[in-house]
Amino acid sequence: MNTPSHKALVPFVSVENMMKLVHSIGIEPMLIGLADAIESDFKRWDKFDKTPRVASHSAEGVIELMPTSDGEVYGFKYVNGHPSNTALGLQTVTAFGLLANVGDGYPVLLSEMTLLTALRTAATSAMAAKYLAPKGATTMAMIGNGAQSEFQSLAMKAIVGITHVRLFDIDAAATEKCAKNLANMGLTVTKCPSAQSAMEGAHIITTCTADKQYATILTDNMIGSGVHINAIGGDCPGKTELHRDILLRSDIFVEYPPQTRVEGEIQQLDPDHSVTELWQVITGQAIGRHDVKQITLFDSVGFAIEDFSALRYVRDQVSNTEFFGNLDLLADPDDPRDLFGMVLRADPARALE
Ligand code: NAD
Repeated sequence: MNTPSHKALVPFVSVENMMKLVHSIGIEPMLIGLADAIESDFKRWDKFDKTPRVASHSAEGVIELMPTSDGEVYGFKYVNGHPSNTALGLQTVTAFGLLANVGDGYPVLLSEMTLLTALRTAATSAMAAKYLAPKGATTMAMIGNGAQSEFQSLAMKAIVGITHVRLFDIDAAATEKCAKNLANMGLTVTKCPSAQSAMEGAHIITTCTADKQYATILTDNMIGSGVHINAIGGDCPGKTELHRDILLRSDIFVEYPPQTRVEGEIQQLDPDHSVTELWQVITGQAIGRHDVKQITLFDSVGFAIEDFSALRYVRDQVSNTEFFGNLDLLADPDDPRDLFGMVLRADPARALE
């Protein structure tokens, strides 16, 4: 990284710079790079401090902190989830995050993470699908065509090799927007009149809707054998997308069980219902897909290690570029014990003496 002139200046990646970074790397190469970073951190799962995210719920939504550390670097993300925000012209999900050096506790990166969350969520979905989706999957149903949907579609194209997305949203304007954004991106895009019709011929079914309730986006009769379900939108207590019967027919894969049991689709099941941790599939300690008829379900809620990996990737990518500024975030007097003197010396009245 272009070393800041002083250690107390913290490299900061703004939304504008994140967009420049995305375009300089390319969206699909960046999704692949993020998936590689996440996969390599999932392979060293036991190196990380792990804790379910700390959530503060309200009637309108949730605000969460997601910390983790690998012993050398510490990271956290601040993220909200407010399904009613879009009606106010605001994002459902916004985020920012930070990496710090464990050795001295000084932050080494502060970054926007609204865009980065969409990218890392899509990269994680595709990484899971690479292990769990049926071989040769070409077609994905994309239910919920909001902010995350194009990222989800492109990650499945770049990493799993799908060629066709079938879109459905209860809001036709969202489907129009998604279809328009995905035009000329190398995917065949079909706008569908119902969730049921979106499912026709789909090998992968992604649900990515936002509603603060137990919703039933998919019912059991819609799900044929052999499909992979990538369930993204059920990620809070009381906020799910799938009918319980689908869960009972599926082999379920999760990020971190203590968090997913509270937040994921499996909150609908007994607390001891068997699930497989994704990192174990990636390291070969557990079996992923073993049967063409098997229904696999990635019950995604989003875990802190994915954000840590994404921030680490961004830190590496922006080094030696212009895509960051330096933030005067940390008070750092020359004499570490003279914090007060630093304030006195900054008194404008003193400058006139
Ligand atoms: P968004 O509000 O931009 O889009 C959600 C879309 O879902 C909207 O277009 C809405 O019309 C549609 N929708 C609502 N109910 C529907 C239904 N019954 N059938 C079909 N469509 C329906 O939200 P977003 O930013 O795209 O996020 C989508 C969901 O993903 C949210 O619930 C969010 O919390 C979740 N999310 C999860 C992760 C994760 O890591 N698992 C990460 C980011 C976001």
